[in-house]
Amino acid sequence: MISAKGVAAFSAKEPLGPYSFERRDPKDYDVVIDIKFCGICHSDIHTVRSEWGQANYPVVPGHEIAGIVRAIGPKVTSYKVGDQVGVGCFVDSCRECSYCQQDLEQYCSKGMNGTYNSFEKDGVTPTQGGYSNVIVVDENYVLRIPNSIPLDKAAPLLCAGITLYSPLMHWKAEPGKRVAIMGMGGLGHMGVKIARALGADVTVLSHSDKKREDALKMGAHHFVSTHNPQVLKEHRGKFDLIINTVSADINMGDYFELLKVDGALVVVGLPEKPLTIHPFPLVMKRRSYAGSLIGSIKETQEMLDFCARHHIAPEIEVITPKEVNTAYERVIKSDVRYRFVIDMATL
Ligand code: NAP
Ligand code: ZN
Repeated sequence: MISAKGVAAFSAKEPLGPYSFERRDPKDYDVVIDIKFCGICHSDIHTVRSEWGQANYPVVPGHEIAGIVRAIGPKVTSYKVGDQVGVGCFVDSCRECSYCQQDLEQYCSKGMNGTYNSFEKDGVTPTQGGYSNVIVVDENYVLRIPNSIPLDKAAPLLCAGITLYSPLMHWKAEPGKRVAIMGMGGLGHMGVKIARALGADVTVLSHSDKKREDALKMGAHHFVSTHNPQVLKEHRGKFDLIINTVSADINMGDYFELLKVDGALVVVGLPEKPLTIHPFPLVMKRRSYAGSLIGSIKETQEMLDFCARHHIAPEIEVITPKEVNTAYERVIKSDVRYRFVIDMATL
């Protein structure tokens, strides 16, 4: 076994703290990765606080993993020692169902094997995530990070980047389309940059006025502060696509009215409580309300290459592992510009 050290949550209420554990020795197709950086996603916080159901403690969170290949199993062909690689939100899937066969492993019929708070393929060994110094992953679930993207900035692409890239591609954000991004945190700010690069007209819908300047600098064409719901009335019937990245419980009713006929509101944010909606605004204008989960391995690789080509990277604040608990508090207060990334060198 390979000894690993990291930062774990031991219950929903306690702060995270140091934790030592073991990773499996590499099997034929495994890649051993020295983790250099790991992003903090709001999903880490929902999970360790058991907001989505009871977590399986101890939990080492982290699914925005960037590092360097330390060793490879004897049959690995895609990677070699020294390569820049990444791991996102899942580390395996059944590989046999129709979704896995169509490069949609995130929707695997048997459920993908999540990077943490889930189980390895054996169904019994808990998976542990990237707030740690090393991880062992099958080569088919490892991503190649283009050399032009520094590892600290690459990390958030593995979840925040792909979670916005996938729906923007699926619902065709492109020139001539008006796209709004609700919530400009880790996910939202990547949405702004990617939608802009795809040629769409981009609006940020933010719950305060604090991020206006940043949003415009990142490529948004328009910024709307939604703290006064009256403001939304001025934007009715405007958008082809709205992507909701908000992590908190909010009233969705007002937002459907912002869509054109046939427009779609796609939710990626996963707050603790259900979002209630009234069907009228959907029915009256044939609007759609949909959801989207991260992206497949193939699409994540496509997104990484797209970001390299378009010189797109997240805005990050690099922290030490000791600062994780304060970072969590700041994420909850929307006081993150725009993704915390943990530097594992100081573990
Ligand atoms: P984040 O960095 O905390 O961003 C969330 C944003 O929501 C905040 O920056 C803020 O934007 C807005 N917000 C927060 N509290 C609010 C409130 N009370 N009222 C209105 N707006 C509020 O979180 P994240 O890491 O981007 O993740 C966002 C959500 O997506 C989380 O629920 C996460 O679990 C989920 N997620 C889903 C997927 C998926 O595959 N579907 C993948 C990753 C994460 P403004 O200040 O601009 O309003
Ligand atoms: Zn995430």
